[in-house]
Amino acid sequence: MSNGESRGVRHAPAGVAILGSTGSIGTSALRVIARQPQRFAVVALTANSNRAVLAQQVAACHPAFVGLVTTDGGDSDGWSCGPECLVQAATRPDVSIVLNAVVGAAGLPATLAALRAGKRVALANKESLVMAGEIVMATVSAHGGELLPVDSEHSAILQCLAGRPLSEVRRLVLTASGGPFRDWSAARIGSATVDDALRHPTWQMGRKISIDSATLANKALEVIEAHYLFGIPYDRIDVVVHPQSIVHSFVEFVDGSVLAQLGVPSMELPILYALTWPERVPDQGVPLFNPVALGALTFEAVRHSEFPMLGIGIRAGRAGGAAPAVYNAANERAVAHFLAGEVGFGRIPMLVSTALSALERLPGDTLDALLAADGAARDHVTSHVGAETSIHESKVPL
Ligand code: NAD
Ligand code: MG
Repeated sequence: MSNGESRGVRHAPAGVAILGSTGSIGTSALRVIARQPQRFAVVALTANSNRAVLAQQVAACHPAFVGLVTTDGGDSDGWSCGPECLVQAATRPDVSIVLNAVVGAAGLPATLAALRAGKRVALANKESLVMAGEIVMATVSAHGGELLPVDSEHSAILQCLAGRPLSEVRRLVLTASGGPFRDWSAARIGSATVDDALRHPTWQMGRKISIDSATLANKALEVIEAHYLFGIPYDRIDVVVHPQSIVHSFVEFVDGSVLAQLGVPSMELPILYALTWPERVPDQGVPLFNPVALGALTFEAVRHSEFPMLGIGIRAGRAGGAAPAVYNAANERAVAHFLAGEVGFGRIPMLVSTALSALERLPGDTLDALLAADGAARDHVTSHVGAETSIHESKVPL
């Protein structure tokens, strides 16, 4: 499907599969779709383990397919159980749009399967693109599927580009809120607790992306995501800190003109736009824009020495091959150890940079090679959690 016409109100609603329906993005997507019943119908839902919330969603939207990855042996009522439910949901003939809102590398097989089946993928799961950007983009070209970003920064860029050719683009500037530690000292950041790190100033999100926002690893993942999605070299992608999260990103064109997309923070707009692109449809997902009430919009440089995960990630992106997959997997595992109380916040960059030094030159030219690098990075991090050094005790090369 190459344009929004066939998803218009004159046709039957487009079937949507929501992978990760019980999460922050998944529940926002259900609210968006509930307001657009003539355009979209939920035909498949999947969750990792939250049976109770999934059952409530099933009772509300009656999807034809329900998948639960991790079962506790409870009554599954015709649901498909196990990790294969993601690909099953993503490739159903009655599904034309797959909203991938799974967190982490677990989302990759469904992204690829949906694109191979020629579906539109509305991608919140940025980890898919970071791990296997070249393979994902080659799959888009080979099978006629579509890849639309849900990430607010990338949705902003797509909206600013408005179909202009890449030859007219000088630079992308991604905005970053700066997270909860934007103005903290390095020493205080190093000993931040899990509760401190989960307290995001402007967005309500899942736990993993909240920690990534506190380290700025999320912005590194987004730079790599932008590189693959829009085909822009790394030296033409910049990051600026914007604490109010009102400007969602900028595109600078070759004539010096700069376009930005603005709005009160709400993921419901980028979710809707990924479903309706290139059309815009009436909706109430974002509060009315009142620039006077919003007050000052400010911008700051990134403090790279306090937030080394951004530079480490961009270097992994530039290195290419298996390096982005190693960065992504090492970060995922280090964040899991932090959330479990097994390592301090200041250890995350050290664990990830140590894994990259050991593994970034692994082969990364096939999916199997990338999956092997992902597994090796996870093992590497876990085998190092007992070591004592922290980023603030032992210098990471910046
Ligand atoms: P979340 O933790 O709130 O939800 C994750 C969902 O994925 C849940 O439904 C969970 O059941 C499912 N899931 C978790 N592990 C799984 C696994 N191994 N296999 C299958 N399903 C699994 O996360 P979120 O905040 O909604 O984020 C989801 C994705 O969207 C992430 O990639 C994140 O980076 C991206 N994203 C989120 C936001 C946001 O505002 N929350 C913004 C931009 C991008
Ligand atoms: Mg984002």
